[in-house]
Amino acid sequence: MVSIVPNNIQIEDDRTGINVETLKRAFLDNLFYIQAKFPKISTKNDYYMALAYTVRDRLLNRWLQTTQTYLEKAPRTVAYLSAEFLMGPHLGNNLMNLGLYNVVKQAMEEFGLGLTDLLEQEEEPGLGNGGLGRLAACYIDSLATLEIPAIGYGIRYEYGIFDQEIKNGWQVEITDKWLRYGNPWEVPRPEAELEVKFGGHTENYTDEHGRYHVQWIPFKVVKGVPYDTPILGFQTNNANTLRLWKAEAPESFDFEAFNKGDYFGSVQEKSECENITKVLYPNDDSYQGKQLRLEQQFFFVSCSLQDMIRMMKAQNLTLERFHEHFAIQLNDTHPTIAVAELMRLLLDEHQFDWDKAWNITTKTFAYTNHTLLPEALERWSINMFGSSFPRHLQIIYEINLRFLDEVRIKFPDDGNRLRRMSIIDESGERYIRMAHLACVGSFAINGVAELHSELLKKTTLHDFYEMYPEKFTNVTNGVTPRRFMVLSNPRLANLITKKIGDSWVTNLDELRKLETFLYDSDFCKEFHQVKQDVKQDLANYIRTNYNITIDPNSLFDIQAKRIHEYKRQHLNALYIITLYNRIKANPNLDVTPRTFLFGGKAAPGYYMAKLIIKLINSIADVVNHDPDMRDRLKVIFLKDYNVKFAQRVYPAADLSEQISTAGKEASGTGNMKFSMNGALTIGTLDGANIEIREVVGEENFFLFGLTAEEVLQKKAAGYNPWDYYNSNPELKLAIDRISSGFFSHGDPNLFKPLLDSLLYRDQYLLLADYQSYIECQDRVSQAYRDREQWIRMSILNVARIGKFSSDRSIRDYVQNIWKVSALKVEVPEYSQSTNGDLKLSY
Ligand SMILES: *Cc1c(COP(=O)(O)O)cnc(C)c1O
Repeated sequence: MVSIVPNNIQIEDDRTGINVETLKRAFLDNLFYIQAKFPKISTKNDYYMALAYTVRDRLLNRWLQTTQTYLEKAPRTVAYLSAEFLMGPHLGNNLMNLGLYNVVKQAMEEFGLGLTDLLEQEEEPGLGNGGLGRLAACYIDSLATLEIPAIGYGIRYEYGIFDQEIKNGWQVEITDKWLRYGNPWEVPRPEAELEVKFGGHTENYTDEHGRYHVQWIPFKVVKGVPYDTPILGFQTNNANTLRLWKAEAPESFDFEAFNKGDYFGSVQEKSECENITKVLYPNDDSYQGKQLRLEQQFFFVSCSLQDMIRMMKAQNLTLERFHEHFAIQLNDTHPTIAVAELMRLLLDEHQFDWDKAWNITTKTFAYTNHTLLPEALERWSINMFGSSFPRHLQIIYEINLRFLDEVRIKFPDDGNRLRRMSIIDESGERYIRMAHLACVGSFAINGVAELHSELLKKTTLHDFYEMYPEKFTNVTNGVTPRRFMVLSNPRLANLITKKIGDSWVTNLDELRKLETFLYDSDFCKEFHQVKQDVKQDLANYIRTNYNITIDPNSLFDIQAKRIHEYKRQHLNALYIITLYNRIKANPNLDVTPRTFLFGGKAAPGYYMAKLIIKLINSIADVVNHDPDMRDRLKVIFLKDYNVKFAQRVYPAADLSEQISTAGKEASGTGNMKFSMNGALTIGTLDGANIEIREVVGEENFFLFGLTAEEVLQKKAAGYNPWDYYNSNPELKLAIDRISSGFFSHGDPNLFKPLLDSLLYRDQYLLLADYQSYIECQDRVSQAYRDREQWIRMSILNVARIGKFSSDRSIRDYVQNIWKVSALKVEVPEYSQSTNGDLKLSY
């Protein structure tokens, strides 16, 4: 095959060259020819776009070469199916991965432009809610960095997660118009569009060979158009593809309707088709049984499977080997309808018989479970499901029939077990249990932290564990150290590199070498200075944007994550009130100054979570303005928590709040990002906290609270929150402060729903954990006073966090589940960048 990249290209071609002069020329070209602007009339966004295109040009060699290599060599490929990809801004990440950060910074400076300013300009693609979507983003980063052939498949939502504003202390949601100024990182591929069917009915017929067939006669057909974004690995040539699908009407006009004169009817139909990928559902850890959401899931799954089949055909590979060519990972149950859709494609469109199709299907899929919360387990009513996907309903019934026969053989005369395990919940209105379909249709099932995987086997998926023990495994989550250390905390990254070289960036276990410097007082000083400087940066940001002054010498105590009762932001709030009460009672109390920072969005329909935001802001109003506090206590709710902002926040933390009720947080990944940046954790024995504590050492972790087992026991024994309220004076005082209207301008009703929920139910056991939590917080305050010891604990967190690189997670998936191999992509010498440019200037 002829190389797609001509060999005789000039070394410093304007489109690819990487010295300062060439970059400047390319930038001006793009400003002129793409943005159609000249400097005098350019906005900051024009400059950002011109730079983005300049950088994109320098990705293309690698991207196209990767595509060509994969096409030629046809390697086994990972298809990561996820309804969410919370990517964060691309520009900085691509500059870092290309090794062009500093040279581009210099080029921009020569124009009088600040790179930081331009980076700030990028509107991030918020195509996810929180941890699950961010995990998908970390995983495609690691896949590319580890040079593994992979495609990320998802949905190109026109509106991503809403922007959050705070008005009068309440969350207000603003639509996220992220595509308003165009997206320079994606390439639309209208020539690769596919069709997806919805609704209608099925018909059976027997062909001339006497074979039985089913045909799906849909009610409507929607077009799926792929939009591709290159995902370059860190200083590799492998640039994988993130392929997101947009829904469009099949023709811009329905000519039949048009000819009948129903012009508006046909336009309406077009807009209904496009509705499918209009907006991301903003729920995290809970699902809403909305038909449109189900249609979104099917839409992207069907496009993706058809796309994979098309690729195999283009490579002259037989579909009999589909499972050898693709390993498909289901990121939670959202894409699980893929099990039925692959069966349909093989049975109805490619004439496989059932057993052959089922054999291929069950060797293709692997399922990652992300939650134990019952409200998050997806189930679709049979009526709704059948009205959109009549053929898939038939297939699922057939899968279930055969599956239950298998269960009957393995566990004879066990009717309850059959009812529990059935893919169809028949206890009332009938539902499809998506997790059951995923378990039956996959060859591997994993949880996302050791405790979570154990609890799955013991509780939620216990029957499936007994049925198929060999399918179960654990892959503890990880996060990418490129974005969350090198890019977001260059001061720390540069200090580390100065001490141990730079290979830690792709081999995070090497951070262990930092332990050698634990008692090197110069290193400790520098390490401390880095933290202080980063805290000062955040303090400056807060002064500029919130007009609040915070003291960078105070302990920065940060809880940043989606707002949810199980994550217990209100437990944190109770501690703040407790500290406040203590100072009020004794204004000269010797307290360790603290700045409490919160960030996070609440699902728009989740009333209690929104009330928690209001409570935090109300406490902040009182505490920040009470002269008795003498600036020893500050509380700030930072609005619109997203990846861009996360990159600013994680590096600045002294203390990371990971205080979920034990047994509720599947893994958490925020906990890893904080710890990587030297924050100490105050946390429960939940999710990955347990494993973090194990590696950083229990003496470097602030542990409190009930264990998952104790939580269950307490509930079984008849938990009564009043017992705690009545017997704990500080707790009572804190709660009474709220109920008296002290934080609500005298209104005793404002927070009543929240207090009632705590006092009468308290399903997340805040009151039971309160005493243990405040005692632990008091230990934190004491520990922070011995700054040298604190710094050593902080250094040990960084030094021992290697396990939580998403590179390790991906290696686990590769070895235990996917069985794929790396495939190195070669590009011509000239298009390789300088490298040696890891130390990002700031
Ligand atoms: C990491 C991350 C999360 C997940 O945080 P948890 O603390 O694990 O819930 C959510 N949102 C953003 C923007 C993140 O970067």
